[in-house]
Amino acid sequence: MNVYDSERMADVLAPLGYVLTEDADASDMIILNTCHIREKAAEKLYSELGRLRVMKEMRSAEGKATMIAVAGCVAQAEGEEILTRAPFVDMVFGPQNYHRLPELVTKANDRAGGRDGIAAKGVVDIEFPAESKFDHLPEVTASSSSAFLSVQEGCDKFCTFCVVPYTRGPEYSRAVEEVLGEARILAAGGVREITLLGQNVNAYHGERGSLGGLVRDLADIDGIERLRYITSHPADMDDELISAHRDVPALMPFLHLPVQSGSDEILSKMNRKHTVDDYRRIAERLFAARPGLKLSTDFIVGFPGETDRDFDATLTLAREMGFVQAYSFMYSPRPGTPGATMADQVPEKVKRERLASLQDLLKQIQIEFNQSSAGEIMGVLFDRPGRKPGQLVGRSPYMQPVHVDAPLEMMGEIADVRIAEVHTNSLGGALLRQSKDGARIST
Ligand code: SAH
Ligand code: SF4
Repeated sequence: MNVYDSERMADVLAPLGYVLTEDADASDMIILNTCHIREKAAEKLYSELGRLRVMKEMRSAEGKATMIAVAGCVAQAEGEEILTRAPFVDMVFGPQNYHRLPELVTKANDRAGGRDGIAAKGVVDIEFPAESKFDHLPEVTASSSSAFLSVQEGCDKFCTFCVVPYTRGPEYSRAVEEVLGEARILAAGGVREITLLGQNVNAYHGERGSLGGLVRDLADIDGIERLRYITSHPADMDDELISAHRDVPALMPFLHLPVQSGSDEILSKMNRKHTVDDYRRIAERLFAARPGLKLSTDFIVGFPGETDRDFDATLTLAREMGFVQAYSFMYSPRPGTPGATMADQVPEKVKRERLASLQDLLKQIQIEFNQSSAGEIMGVLFDRPGRKPGQLVGRSPYMQPVHVDAPLEMMGEIADVRIAEVHTNSLGGALLRQSKDGARIST
């Protein structure tokens, strides 16, 4: 979502003459788009700001102005506090306010120039606006064969560990026609794969029903060959969405469905609104709807009250589900969330040990899955040149990077590839072409 938001900020700033640069030292404006989900992510902001302050001063000595902005969920959560700790920051704005960037830039410039009569001090915009930013953002443009499309934002679930409902605000779904319009523009610009985004994407509810209906409508758009959605919540996996996995070939057989823990006690304390068995049942329905479907997931270890037994149940579930990819985190108490003040906080050392053993297991499962890909034929969407000349890299349906000898014209296309090599984090294979009798042969 932050990648999507950053791209959209660049779109908003383009009419003001700003272009993206890879070179921070040469930038007139630097926006740090921040994440507040865990303490470590939030801490990064202040160390990065310290570095930028030195740069701003050096550029200033050369007579160059540098505008520094803090965007995203840390901005939303800390607001004015950021200006107190880092008074050289010019703009602080939240994830729902960046459509107002042109006004913010004008205000920040006025203040920096002292024109509105107050001492130079940054502008802050973190009020949740009554209007939706989507009504004010410029039209999207396609920049590669794969694109993100935000369809849902915010969350009303209030899991006891999570800051999202506070920083991203209440649940909001974009209108169906607005989403389809954006998807048509992307498809016409060469996009073949769309990943629908939302903090709780399958809570999506449009005029014509749930996310399953939206997926069907999107699959009908010419040029759209792959669809994905992230991140979904098990409690919102409704019949319409599960049946879309059966009926819509463009919907990739790979789903990120966070489970967090394999223990019912912990799930209940987390307020996840489902049990381990509920999760198993949903997974079985998905596997039955789409043969070959694989799951990826998120885990939190060391949530308050988590015992060795609870943690063992997590290991057992990971093995049972065979998650082909997983993100796992040590519980990070977030200020203002119920989990932060719960009794029986787990010591850091125990969290670290649990994380290490879970990650060992997850790695092993992932390697086994990659090895099982050898000899398989998979569709690969080529999206970048490889390191070796004559090579392209693309993504399998399961998001594995696949290196293939292929002509540059195939960039942005999907082709069948027979997997021949399995590396730790990627695969290698050979292009297949259709023979005259329709059989597929390796080139
Ligand atoms: N909406 C998604 C998750 C969004 S947050 C869902 O409900 O599953 C992304 C991931 O960050 C979560 O799945 C969780 O594993 C992790 N996370 C969120 N808050 C955390 C915290 N306080 N400590 C550690 N991990 C956390
Ligand atoms: Fe956070 Fe996801 Fe729970 Fe919402 S459903 S509170 S985003 S973890």
